Formats: sequence, structure tokens, C-alpha cells
Amino acid sequence: MALDFEKEKLERELKKRKPKKVLVQLAEGIKQNSFEFLDTFAKLGIEVIFSGETSWGACAPAVQEAQYLGADLIVHFGHAEFYDEKFPILYIEVKDKLNLTPLLKKSLPALKKYKKIGFSYSIQHRHDLEKIKSFYEKNGKEVVLSKKLGHVAYEGHIVGCQYGGLKAIEKDVECFVIMGNQFHGMGAVLSVEKPVILLDVYNDEVRSLSGLREKILKQRAASIEKFKNAKRIGIIVEIKPGQKFGSPKYLLDKIKEQGKEAIVITMNELSPDKLMNFYNIEAFVELACPRIAIDDFAKYPRTIITFKEALIALGVKSWKDMLNIGLV
Ligand code: SF4
Repeated sequence: MALDFEKEKLERELKKRKPKKVLVQLAEGIKQNSFEFLDTFAKLGIEVIFSGETSWGACAPAVQEAQYLGADLIVHFGHAEFYDEKFPILYIEVKDKLNLTPLLKKSLPALKKYKKIGFSYSIQHRHDLEKIKSFYEKNGKEVVLSKKLGHVAYEGHIVGCQYGGLKAIEKDVECFVIMGNQFHGMGAVLSVEKPVILLDVYNDEVRSLSGLREKILKQRAASIEKFKNAKRIGIIVEIKPGQKFGSPKYLLDKIKEQGKEAIVITMNELSPDKLMNFYNIEAFVELACPRIAIDDFAKYPRTIITFKEALIALGVKSWKDMLNIGLV
């Protein structure tokens, strides 16, 4: 995989911002690339420390680490800006240098029935957007980009917890084409009802995700039912600054109104082993990344659901309302 770490932008921004000490955060898939741009920092005499903590999204810039280390800038590689943070952060989105034409050609048979396609891409392919649009247009398609809503940084950009931009164009398109990986595609099928075709760039595959929606919704409905029957509940909040998906106080009050017991539990990063010793809690609701409960539920020792799902379990919203909004 050939990646462009945008060294010119990095150097230009570093010269402008003049930091003395930088904390570098690399997305998980590019942690091994830490030596590729060290020279840019070295020639400007900037001290660099690499964060070894996980970096799944720009929802979690390492602000606490940076403050602890006395760094005056975070350089966050591999994601686009997600929310407004007071601490200075430079986002380097990192471009994937791929020849996408063979994959786009491969997608045409799957798109034969459709003329108007809703299109979304993961951030590494943004620089190829015009080429992608023109390819489809030359092949008789009309491309509508998902809207820039919520935490996404650009029109057409997709992140795993924000699908309102796809919902917003659903009535105008016949299907969705997602350029990214299974994670992005799976979030899309949970949020929209029109067919979703995934262009899986890293496996060089085109996949129709039909059938996946029903399978996952069935599983989520089963977890919501189990949560409803639980008498003792844990509400989990992470301290990652961009991961505030719902109010713990609101849930605590709602759960108590129903004659059940609940506590709020905080952690840096939720993982199955951290819940093992809370063995007297029957079910958990997590207000961190919603994809933890949806994608990783099988790894957890107890039922675990998202904030939106808890609203269904507690009778605040109906299942139908939630499907209209989108489960992710
Ligand atoms: S909350 Fe989850 S899906 Fe959203 S950006 Fe963060 S890690 Fe990705």
C-alpha cells in the first residue's frame, strides 16, 4: 500500500506553528510508518514523541497525553478533524495512492440496475473523488455525494459513527456505493434501507451487502431484549473527548424510574477484560464509540448495547423511530 504522508503540508504547517515538542498520533493501520516523516521534524529541530495508545478515530486526540508530556502540538495522522478541540492539533489525513480504475470497472456489473448512486468514501480516497465521479458519469451514472452532517469533515466523507449524511440523500438515490472497508459498509447498511455496494479497496473486491442489515438488526434486537430484562445495569463512559454519545445522568434516572439499579463506570478505553470483575452487573450500555457494542458484542462477557439502543429498551423511542433515524 503506497501512502502519501503529505510531507509538504506537514513541513509548511510546522514552520507556521513553530512547536517545540510534538506528540504524534498515528491511526492503527499506519503505526508502522512512524519513520517515514521523522526527517521533517528533525530538520526543524522539533522534539517528537509517538503515542502508543490506540487511535481508532479523530474522536480521541491524545490531549491528556500531550498535556502530561508538555507537548505544544499534536500531529494526528490518518483521520480528518472530528470535533472542535481547544488544544492545538494538526490533522494530516494521509492519501492512499492507488489506481482505483480496475476496482471501479469491477463495480459496474453490480451497479447495472442503478442510475443514481449515493457515494461516500473513507478519508484516504478524498483526493481521487473527481476521478471517481467522472468515471461513473462517463458510464452513465449520476453521483450524489452524502451530505456533510455531524462529525464528517467533507461532503461524501464517511466515518463509522455518523451516517446522517447518507440518510439525508437516501430518497434521491437508488443505491449507495461505499469506498472503504467492511467497517464503513456495515455502518451504512444499518443506517439506510437502499442497497449498499462496498468497494473494498484493501481486498480489491466489490461486495453487495444485502442480507447483512437483517442479520445485524436481529442480533441488536436480541441484545435490546436481554437488556430490558436486566435488573442491574452498568453505564459506561469513556474519557475520550469526542466520544460522548448520550448522557449518563439521563440514562441513570430513566433506569431508576423503572425500579432497576444502575451505576456509571468510567474508563479510558472499553475492553471485555475490564468488565470481567463487574460480574454482578447483568447488562451494560456504553456511551463511547457505538461500534464497540454493535461490532464487538460477541467478545463481551455480558449484554452490551449503545445509547440509542438503550432508549429503545427503556421505552423512550420505538424500534421504528430508531430505524428511521438510523441505528448508528
Ligand atoms: S466514535 Fe468510533 S466510529 Fe466514530 S470516529 Fe471514533 S472510533 Fe470511529
